[in-house]
Amino acid sequence: MENCIFCKIINNEIPSYKVYEDEEVYAFLDISQATPGHTLLIPKTHVTDIFSYDDVLAEKLFSRLPKIARALEAAFPEMEGLNIINNNKELAYQTVFHSHVHLIPRYTKEDDFSMHFGNHMGQQTENEMTEIAEKIAKQVK
Ligand code: 5GP
Ligand code: ZN
Repeated sequence: MENCIFCKIINNEIPSYKVYEDEEVYAFLDISQATPGHTLLIPKTHVTDIFSYDDVLAEKLFSRLPKIARALEAAFPEMEGLNIINNNKELAYQTVFHSHVHLIPRYTKEDDFSMHFGNHMGQQTENEMTEIAEKIAKQVK
C-alpha cells in the first residue's frame, strides 16, 4: 500500500535490519529497541490490524512466531522471558497501521518495558461473567 512505511520496508524502498523473511512474512528490528533484540513480525500483505485478517493470513503470520522466538532465545542466552504484543487501533497504542507483532526479549525487571492489567478479580458476579462470555461466544464465526 502506498505511503505505508512497513510496505516500503518489505519492498526495500527504505532500509531495515532484517532478521527473517519468507514468501509470507518479514521480520526486522524495531527502530526503537525497547530491549535489545526487539523485533517486529509483519505480513507481506498489507492489513491494517487484527480485524482485517482472514484465517489463511493469520495462519501465515502467527505460525512464524515460535520460529522468531526461538531465534531470539538462541541469540540472547541471557534472555529470561519474551513478551509478544500486538497493538490494534490508536487507543490500544497502535502507531503504524500495517499490522505487526512485537517480540520483546526480557532481561531484567528493570528494563524499559512494563504491562499493567491491574487486579480486578471478583469485580463481576458469576452471572455477569456468564453474560459477557455468552455475548462474545455468540459472535465467534
Ligand atoms: P505500534 O505502536 O504501532 O505497536 O508499533 C510501531 C513500532 O514501529 C514502534 O515500536 C516504532 O518504533 C516502530 N517503527 C516506526 N517506524 C519504523 C521504521 O521506519 N523502521 C522500523 N524498523 N521500526 C519503525
Ligand atoms: Zn503496509
